[in-house]
Amino acid sequence: MEQHLAASAEHADYLVELSNVVRQTNIGPRGPRSLRRLGLVLRALMELTGDPDVSVYPVADISLLGGHREFADPAEVRRLRRWVADGLVEEVADADERILELARMTGTRVITGDQYVDHRLEHDWIQGNTWQFLRPEPRAGGTVALVPMDMGVRSAAEISRKMELSALKKQGLIGPSSTPMTTVIMRSWRCPERRCSLYDTRKGGRVLLPRIRGGVPTCELHGLPLEDQGPRLGTAQLKAVIDGVCVARYTLDEGAEAQVGRHPGPAGIALHSLLKPETAARVSRTHVTVSARKGSVLIRDVSSYGTRMRPAGRRGGFGPWEPLPPGTGRPFRPGDEVELAPGVVLTRSGRRFPAELADAWRGAGGAGGAEPPGASAPTRRY
Ligand SMILES: [Zn+2]
Repeated sequence: MEQHLAASAEHADYLVELSNVVRQTNIGPRGPRSLRRLGLVLRALMELTGDPDVSVYPVADISLLGGHREFADPAEVRRLRRWVADGLVEEVADADERILELARMTGTRVITGDQYVDHRLEHDWIQGNTWQFLRPEPRAGGTVALVPMDMGVRSAAEISRKMELSALKKQGLIGPSSTPMTTVIMRSWRCPERRCSLYDTRKGGRVLLPRIRGGVPTCELHGLPLEDQGPRLGTAQLKAVIDGVCVARYTLDEGAEAQVGRHPGPAGIALHSLLKPETAARVSRTHVTVSARKGSVLIRDVSSYGTRMRPAGRRGGFGPWEPLPPGTGRPFRPGDEVELAPGVVLTRSGRRFPAELADAWRGAGGAGGAEPPGASAPTRRY
């Protein structure tokens, strides 16, 4: 399972509320807690995405390992402890709050069975959301399917009742926040404690996204407000999916343009070695170009044979295939599929660019958390 655990939330295809999944007793083996339930979820994700390397970022409550006697297998406890020590599982006092912070900052989908009713004042973007939360459900043969949850719109009375129940847990976490969350992920941060590199993007490797305390990005370890280190450049992830299987991943930095095709030249993404000869004959030497500019990704057809595209749907699934107009840039959003030839698909993985996140929130309007593209109600309270 380790190979599916991403070193940072930003590079993960999905977030997993691990405490919730491990305790979901209607899937996997008997007993109150089992790590094998995560294995079932990972298998379901590979099936859903067609990506054998799909990655997740798990967040766990401290109480998950605190209650280690509830695991039937002590080897699972040791394994989980090692993951926490290696930074493959983020362990926090309140996993709900952290999962929602990360989901809001990155726009990444979340695997959980929780409806987060008591968090909806602070996180009103959950209201009406139909795409960002996936619930594991048991299927025949002991397997698991991941089903998008309609989060619905809960009344103020219902929310406050739930909040009273968890008031102690949430003390100090609720309150009007003034920092727009988009700006948090669009910038680099640094802890004032000089030896602390938890948030240092210049060192590469594992970088935490900030905790938000009272609207202020804060160091998880030292509790200090983080210093703003200036704007941060985005990176988009592309995947090549051939006959339903993800065979390669590429990254595209802000400001960069990549040519994709059978043999686009040294700076491009060459697919020839991945294609059967009869398929390769239908892919142009340079077939499409993909560019990342000002926080969004555009795709342009430059082929001799044409290219089709279908947008990711609001409730999973896809819209209809449409030909890409030749030579014209079109927005290429996470989940959209671009088909160069039958069975040769280019897609973007989970994480959105900051500007796309901002669009999503604007598009969601008042009560909703629906997916873009949408109308353009001006601003939201963050
Ligand atoms: Zn620190």
